[in-house]
Amino acid sequence: MERQFTKEIESLRLGEGETFHGEGILAVTKALLQSGVSYVGGYQGAPVSHLLDVMVQARDYLDDLGVHVEACTSEASAAAMLGASINYPARGAVTWKSVVGTNVAADALSYLASAGVMGGTLIVLGEDYGEGGVVAQERSHSFAMKSLMWLLDPRPNLTTIVDMVEHGFALSEASNTPVMMELRIRACHVHGTFVARNNVSPAVSMRHLLDGPPKEFIYDRLAHPPAIFRQEKLKNDVRLPAARKYIAEHKLNEVFDGDVGDVGIVVQGGLYNGLLRALRLLGLADDFGGCRIPIHVLNVVYPLLPEEIISYSKDKTALLVVEEGQPEFIEQEIAMHLRRANLQTRLHGKDFLQMAGDYNTELMVRGLARFLKEHAPQLDLSSGLLWLDSNQGTKDKAAGLLGGMPQRPPTFCVGCPERPVFSAMKLVAQDIGRPHVSMDVGCHAFASFEPFSQGNTLLGYGMSLASAAGVTPMSARRPVAVMGDGGFWHNGLLSGVASNLMNKGDGVLVIMKNGYASATGTQELISTPDEESRAVAVGASAAHNDRTIEDTLTGLGVKWLRTVNNYDVGAMTKTYREAMTTEQKGLKVIVAEGECQLERQRRLRPVVAKNLSEGKRTVRVKYGVDEDTCTGDHSCIRLSGCPTLTVKDNPDPLRRDPVATVIDGCVGCGLCGENAHAAVLCPSFYRAEVIQNPGFLDKAIDSVRNLFK
Ligand code: SF4
Ligand code: SF4
Repeated sequence: MERQFTKEIESLRLGEGETFHGEGILAVTKALLQSGVSYVGGYQGAPVSHLLDVMVQARDYLDDLGVHVEACTSEASAAAMLGASINYPARGAVTWKSVVGTNVAADALSYLASAGVMGGTLIVLGEDYGEGGVVAQERSHSFAMKSLMWLLDPRPNLTTIVDMVEHGFALSEASNTPVMMELRIRACHVHGTFVARNNVSPAVSMRHLLDGPPKEFIYDRLAHPPAIFRQEKLKNDVRLPAARKYIAEHKLNEVFDGDVGDVGIVVQGGLYNGLLRALRLLGLADDFGGCRIPIHVLNVVYPLLPEEIISYSKDKTALLVVEEGQPEFIEQEIAMHLRRANLQTRLHGKDFLQMAGDYNTELMVRGLARFLKEHAPQLDLSSGLLWLDSNQGTKDKAAGLLGGMPQRPPTFCVGCPERPVFSAMKLVAQDIGRPHVSMDVGCHAFASFEPFSQGNTLLGYGMSLASAAGVTPMSARRPVAVMGDGGFWHNGLLSGVASNLMNKGDGVLVIMKNGYASATGTQELISTPDEESRAVAVGASAAHNDRTIEDTLTGLGVKWLRTVNNYDVGAMTKTYREAMTTEQKGLKVIVAEGECQLERQRRLRPVVAKNLSEGKRTVRVKYGVDEDTCTGDHSCIRLSGCPTLTVKDNPDPLRRDPVATVIDGCVGCGLCGENAHAAVLCPSFYRAEVIQNPGFLDKAIDSVRNLFK
């Protein structure tokens, strides 16, 4: 796994009155235990991966508390897990990256929301929206609205986040409804403190077992006709009013007063910190949260409380709604409540702030300045306007100095086993022409960028083969789908492989068997090599020690299946060419095997350090370029894209082209040598062995070599 959470696991044990220090998402983890959660599940994905990672690593402690932890195979299985709270008074929490994860979980969530829950259920959503987001830019808000589930969006400080987790469970129980809590990237990683409470051992748990199913069979708890019709009425007539009552009674939303009382701001809780900073730049707030403009903070963004909105708005001439993303769900609803109450308060939001994209400080300062100029012209906003001007000046100056900076697209780690596969695909495409390539979510998506530029579509996690289904019958050349082992188990096996086989499809599927769900933090999969194989495969790939993927494909009926060592570019090129050109119909699957270099290096480093400290002979392989031989055509770079293979000035004063060079950081994966061989490049690459703690023979050879220098 990407990180060891030893320190964080210790802080899960903090008791009443002790101070928790750490980041937002880990505060949520502690808050779940303080809330007496019985079971926790989820599917990894930034920015909430750490929640599940910590829980998985803290299994021993959670076993003591009786809390069950499940690393689910998809968000759908995590959502379905919450079904435990339909019939039993057990609190459950799950987590995933949203909006994509919520899409995957949507079916189970609809049924869960329809049936309703007895035990509190909390879904912690990593709202991957705006700057730093890596998924389709949509909001999770619509899921809350369509299924009538409640959506929390706490102010990004640890105390509020923790309080909202605890209220989330209570709100869920008070209204028999699942509750979601969205945390943006900044909220997940905000650092701070909160005063801890004791963890609560759950009433129903691995230590306090249920003695059977409910004594009375209640048909209405099944989301099935005819119960669904009653459930829909219950949602509106009973659960929604109960939720509003709880939110009002416990004052989950907050109002911060200000002296400029005839205007007001309504903000999603998660945007509060950015809003306050923008107001401070405009000279209207201080460093301690004091602000001249009244702010209504929605820690619960769905449902809204009509009375609360009306009470806040009735003595104001104008309101600004600060709501990130499109469409303006909150603004529209506030407009409806104002209209129904016949209030003439002017309503602004997306007209002064942009419709789509991240609400950063600069954007908020601009929007606030426009709003306040129109509705509070007496305020002096000059400090904010000066700041905006100076910002723009800095940007203009930087643009002038830097000129057109070359783009720096993200790329694979140094030595990544997936890079050689794309080198092989590029080489074959030179001979047979470029095929349509369906890309998938995961590290391999980096091959969409230079120098590979492969990947015509990306339709979601594990969906690459399915997304090629429509292209195959229309293509003269066989389309290729690329998928990671994470995507294969998440969705690709059924949506792609089973569907292709059932429809007697054709095409080529390349599965990157690197052993982990690498892009999300190298969490384990069902096909991850076990501890024992990883321990013995210290210097080599451990991925080949597991055959679960191959066995599954064979069992399903895949007839053309090859497993190839990624780093053997010659073999990969040959196999891929065969898959693309064979007369044999049906799905051709290449399992490209090579352990994630990140994980491999994590295993390798401590072993090498130990060997060195014990004086043992250690050999490190490095590749290099002979600058006298390098022709400077850079075809090696166009075929590799390794960040440690770069250029430097040509040492020969008579030649102008920069030469290729391998800088420090080369992990000796061998791709440079393989590419030079497979593509018949210039013979400038050399392989060097750096020997530490040399033995007698090494020293003797060195002495002889020195004689001939
Ligand atoms: S995390 Fe692993 S699989 Fe992903 S780019 Fe890095 S080495 Fe490759
Ligand atoms: S051998 Fe080449 S591709 Fe592999 S890590 Fe070194 S420079 Fe990068």
